[in-house]
Amino acid sequence: MSDDLILVLDEGTTSTRAMLFTADGRIAGKAQQEITQHYPRPGWVEQDATEIWHRTLACAREVVEQAGGPRSIAGIGITNQRETVVAWDRDTGEPLARAIVWQDRRTAGRCAAMKEAGLEAAIQKETGLLLDPYFAGTKMRWLIEREEPVAAAAKRGTLALGTIESWLVFKLTGGTFVSDASNASRTLLLPLAGAQFDEGLCDTFEVPRGALAEVVDTSGAFGTTLPELLGAAIPICGLVGDQQSATIGQGCLSPGDTKATYGTGAFVLSNQGETIPSSDHRLLATVLYQEGGRRTYALEGSVFVAGSLIQWLRDSLGLLGTAAESEALARSVPDSGGVVIVPGLSGLGAPHWQPDARGVIAGLSFATGRAQIARAALEAMAHQTYDLAEAFAADGARWTMLRVDGGMSANDWMAQDIANLLDLPVERPDMVETTALGAAMLASVGAGLHPSLEDAAAEMGGEEERFEPDMDERERTLRLDGWKKALAAS
Ligand code: ADP
Repeated sequence: MSDDLILVLDEGTTSTRAMLFTADGRIAGKAQQEITQHYPRPGWVEQDATEIWHRTLACAREVVEQAGGPRSIAGIGITNQRETVVAWDRDTGEPLARAIVWQDRRTAGRCAAMKEAGLEAAIQKETGLLLDPYFAGTKMRWLIEREEPVAAAAKRGTLALGTIESWLVFKLTGGTFVSDASNASRTLLLPLAGAQFDEGLCDTFEVPRGALAEVVDTSGAFGTTLPELLGAAIPICGLVGDQQSATIGQGCLSPGDTKATYGTGAFVLSNQGETIPSSDHRLLATVLYQEGGRRTYALEGSVFVAGSLIQWLRDSLGLLGTAAESEALARSVPDSGGVVIVPGLSGLGAPHWQPDARGVIAGLSFATGRAQIARAALEAMAHQTYDLAEAFAADGARWTMLRVDGGMSANDWMAQDIANLLDLPVERPDMVETTALGAAMLASVGAGLHPSLEDAAAEMGGEEERFEPDMDERERTLRLDGWKKALAAS
């Protein structure tokens, strides 16, 4: 094989994967292993950072072999689950506690207290984020407060606190301690306008500044792997959070370009260029990527329940045999027969942010069957996306089209329904691995295979399928009214 392959490590919540990309964006190798989830109490989610490291390394070794050896690989890109926090000792390189996963709600009390104290507006202005346990900062504080070995390392001055890309780079290089700007911007400790983690924010969250990494670009040269790990020293050239990576992988490189990923939940990111965005509608502002210290920003809105609604219909209610069956069922009826589902099964995310909201199935009659329910479930995805689109527009970031990806986007009926309700074209790439592709693009720039991210996107991006809006205005209005009523009931 040639020597211009990119090795991508895609460290997700439930599995870690390694993939090989060619310089023209084809996938030339793959390996995957599951990650164990620990749920010690309701609302708590933990992982073992050593397991993440060992499994990631095992996958990397497998694809290095598939590549014909380390000399075929020009560089490594890492993309990862964001906001998950690892505490380790810089001297021993060993974790000091279980990693706290992004979904973990244990710091809800502290967040509520900080909100009560009136801190949220200033923090949102500075970091682009809200006071929610989702973000890394309060998790870091919790570790120092509640885990004795973490506190002891903080006292000794050997504590390292970092997100997953930071942990993996430390292990791969044998001690380089960096965090890329897209991951760092999810901690509440990095100002959108500041190059490095901020002393004042660290004081506010009571996290020692000295335990944090150096913030670096999303593409560049971040050190080389210890030769004994993969058979040779390979440069690490790209680092990026998973949702930012998918946005790049979708080629959303110009201001206004927007993507929605429909997996378990749904994540929408819209490129906002080099000016720092702000939101009056509870969207998040975040770093999309950083090159030579210059940042490109995004506005972000997440919906908690997307594919998990289909899973619930399948596994808890037994209404579906497979997730894909939802499409045939939705097509088998002319409409949902007045049924509207608001998927507030774990509260409502952006733009509503109502953690105590509950799900609603409205408009039932004796004519309601599983086809109407399945159709209403899929229609809920378009409605949730529509509400986000309205919030983005109100913040001055109106979409002109939407690029979709994620496991659920395979559903053609849903993609068409989203186009219809938004009254915008929807594009879906043939290449579904957009998260890994984004990291591959960044790493290919860092490794010098492509001169710029735009070139990388042109060379590595594939074809897409387009869904044009096709719904009459009366039907749209009826749908939107029905949703509003059901939403009020949730
Ligand atoms: P994640 O990365 O969050 O684990 P994926 O991107 O793999 O999720 O998407 C899986 C989700 O998409 C599941 O919740 C599943 O119910 C849903 N899903 C997969 N295929 C379809 C389909 N054809 N129609 C509707 N939902 C689907």
